[in-house]
Amino acid sequence: MRRYSAFAIAREAARYHQGWERAWASPEPKKSYDAIIVGAGGHGLATAFYLGKNFGITNVAVIEKGWLGGGNTGRNTTIIRSNYLQDASAAIYEKARSLYETMSQDLNYNVMFSPRGVIMLAQTHHEVRGYQRTAHANALQGVKTEFISPQRVKEIVPIINLDGPRYPVLGGLWQARGGTARHDAVAWGYARACSDMGMDIIQKTEVTGVRKENGAVVGVETSRGFIGTKKLGIVVAGHSGVLADMAGFRLPVESVALQALVSEPIKPCMDCVVMANTVHGYMSQSDKGEMVIGGGADGYNNYTQRGSFHHIEETVRALIETFPMISRLKQLRQWGGIVDMTGDRSPILSKTPVEGVFINCGWGTGGFKAIPGSGWGFAELMARGYSPLTAEFGLNRFKEGRFIDESVAAGVAH
Ligand SMILES: Cc1cc2nc3c(=O)[nH]c(=O)nc-3n(C[C@H](O)[C@H](O)[C@H](O)COP(=O)(O)OP(=O)(O)OC[C@H]3O[C@@H](n4cnc5c(N)ncnc54)[C@H](O)[C@@H]3O)c2cc1C
Repeated sequence: MRRYSAFAIAREAARYHQGWERAWASPEPKKSYDAIIVGAGGHGLATAFYLGKNFGITNVAVIEKGWLGGGNTGRNTTIIRSNYLQDASAAIYEKARSLYETMSQDLNYNVMFSPRGVIMLAQTHHEVRGYQRTAHANALQGVKTEFISPQRVKEIVPIINLDGPRYPVLGGLWQARGGTARHDAVAWGYARACSDMGMDIIQKTEVTGVRKENGAVVGVETSRGFIGTKKLGIVVAGHSGVLADMAGFRLPVESVALQALVSEPIKPCMDCVVMANTVHGYMSQSDKGEMVIGGGADGYNNYTQRGSFHHIEETVRALIETFPMISRLKQLRQWGGIVDMTGDRSPILSKTPVEGVFINCGWGTGGFKAIPGSGWGFAELMARGYSPLTAEFGLNRFKEGRFIDESVAAGVAH
């Protein structure tokens, strides 16, 4: 595949952009593959990419029931940070964050990584203590964060209201190299690189069953027939329980809708990401000028892929307290995605009771930021049977009580 470059843009401009190649192929499925990934979201595509790049496994199919990047990967609010409390989490999220730094060059695809900084506001004394503790833990983990004063918060975010009606801003956990990236571009960049390595990305094809012989996987049933494999990676986010059921095991995850919204575009007014976990809302400004606003997850299990009115109301109320200047903005659009939540709010990257079947799920409300690190570790797990990045995230932790508790640490795990 020809590289994208300034020279290529000039060349194509001269011939009316008629010569661009398709970014990825749309092949017919083969009879079998060395490895199959179910789900062409960011995590599935990144897994395929690192299977090829790091382990030379390129006879791979990524099977997607809709269109690639059409799940949560194309629905999130794109926050990237690695300031988690527990060592295992900091390791995988920081690996991911550092891979984001060079992703555009590595994939030869502009993913618009913008390390604009992320502040998590502390609005209760409990949160102050919690975030100070996280800052100390991050220092030991080699993750650069600092706890900053309310005055410093105001310097970084002039539009913020420090004296909210319910909760004043008492400080914040600041990660200067956190930020955002263009979510679709992450999926598209990985897809193009996978296709370039000769992998098959098979869209509009639903996996409907997992075929086993003597306790080991031999392939998948799909809406386009049976496809054989001895290595299957299930990477389907909110549908993980459905796929696990097909393979014959159960997962400790719940699927719920999480929603977000954007305002009409306005002039640049905020050049970092702010998360207000006590009042529950977070906001950044997109390159188009829209204020990107994220809210809470539904309190009941569902697969609806859309939001509910009361969450919009709660989220907007929280954000208006924190940023009164947005009170007259119009909402442009709103959407939802199905997220897969574990009890300890940490992911599962694991072998399963079925030989040859691996599961990558449980990223819940915060897996976009993890895509490259998750793909890196999960590919290693699938190729070698072990990865230091994923070792703590096995399914057995729920039986053994070794929880990686991030629900208290992160407040909200976006
Ligand atoms: C509103 C919202 C805001 C969010 N904000 C953030 C944020 O700011 N920062 C952050 O880090 N994370 C955020 N997240 C979470 C993040 O989006 C997800 O954790 C991440 O995108 C999961 O990626 P994935 O590749 O695992 O799943 P997905 O992108 O959902 O991909 C899974 C794919 O599997 C496919 N699939 C399912 N079943 C089948 C089947 N039977 N056969 C074939 N294919 C199948 C689906 O169609 C889908 O395309 C947010 C999520 C939402 C919904």
